[in-house]
Amino acid sequence: MITILQIVLFTVLCGVAGFLAFKGYRRVYRNIMLGMKANYSDNPSQRLNNMLLVALGQKKMFKNVIPAILHVFIYVGFVITQIELIEIFIDGFTGSHRIIYHAVENIPFLKGFYVFTISFIEVASLFVLFATLAFLTRRWILKVPRLNKPELKGWPIKDATIILLAELYLLTCIFSMNAGDMALHNSEYGFLVSGWLVPLFSGMSNTTIYIVEKLGWWGHMIGVLAFLVYLPYSKHLHILLAFPNTYFGRLTPKGYIANMPEITKEIKSMMNPEPAPATDTPVEAIKFGARDVFDLTWKNLLDAYTCTECGRCSAACPANLTGKKLSPRKIMMDTRDRLEDVGRSIEANNGIWKEDGKSLIENGYISVEELRACTTCNACVEECPVMISPLEIIVQLRRNLVMEESNAPNEWQGMFANMENNGAPWQFSQQDRLNWEKA
Ligand code: SF4
Ligand code: SF4
Repeated sequence: MITILQIVLFTVLCGVAGFLAFKGYRRVYRNIMLGMKANYSDNPSQRLNNMLLVALGQKKMFKNVIPAILHVFIYVGFVITQIELIEIFIDGFTGSHRIIYHAVENIPFLKGFYVFTISFIEVASLFVLFATLAFLTRRWILKVPRLNKPELKGWPIKDATIILLAELYLLTCIFSMNAGDMALHNSEYGFLVSGWLVPLFSGMSNTTIYIVEKLGWWGHMIGVLAFLVYLPYSKHLHILLAFPNTYFGRLTPKGYIANMPEITKEIKSMMNPEPAPATDTPVEAIKFGARDVFDLTWKNLLDAYTCTECGRCSAACPANLTGKKLSPRKIMMDTRDRLEDVGRSIEANNGIWKEDGKSLIENGYISVEELRACTTCNACVEECPVMISPLEIIVQLRRNLVMEESNAPNEWQGMFANMENNGAPWQFSQQDRLNWEKA
């Protein structure tokens, strides 16, 4: 009877978590698809290569060796630990206990492989434990400057801490489960690390050890399900999105900034004053740059959801380093916040977007001052471990400010007037344009 109740409870928990997680991931997908179309399907072999090297191989992380090694411990440990989940799920749905072990216990080679695998997971878990404590120390005791910036106040710091504490919780559950099992069965399983923990159970009754083992089992399973549901609301979504984001990464040379077709036509007509070819887009529909998330591409929005908030971009940004308000990390966080706000509004209005009178510029998101501070140096793009481009968003927003709102510093206005009238930034007419040499 208890077994049936356990199976039912397990199935219900998985069903509820699966439903909530599906809703969360579908929301993220819908929000990303609010962006404009853009084609990133060229050169699939290079894209695959980038994904394997940068997302799977964590290549760009190794510019900073110690955090990179700690991150690899957590990443590899997290992936490997999930192998044990396979057995947990089969046991949960069938009411069995260590079903794989009992299926192979009379086949020495397979039994040995099983014990080796669980022991390997336990050793990896020890590395995860070490790395998690190191990350908590960097964040809360050493207060590494990159991880204590104003844009991280509030939810972002809590989010990072929740995940690190969740790691500790999951590790406690795994070791309680395995060590409890070992203590109950006279260490017959032979797991390496939990074998060292068995003496901790000496003097406890079998009932107490059984409860500890079951708490570890259920705790681990519930923790993993909760993590799945939580992930779409966290910066840790990057553990999944880093793969598509690197696959669809920009293959254009560093420093390449895409032209605006309408402007290209305009310039061509200025340089060759024949009648300009007719544009395909009605004049009133032509929009320069981006004012809101809808004007950015889906790749910009995928970038925003993939951002790990690591701050490597801001730590290399010359504007940020010289005390300007600009932080490329904040650009990505603000873009995601605006997208989340838009998504919530769409949900509240039965799937329809109703103008809220706001945009990504100002309104508590990205300020004009931040946008103007960018030197377009590309350092943020170079540093990002998951191939994000804050610069592309900055340029698009700044284009909109300048070209749609005429919102530029006074110092630039004279140059714009000259370009409009003379076809060059200097105050000479077209016939005298080479006079700039003498100016
Ligand atoms: S491109 Fe702009 S945001 Fe990026 S590092 Fe350079 S100045 Fe900073
Ligand atoms: S944009 Fe890249 S480098 Fe900057 S905080 Fe996000 S993940 Fe880190």
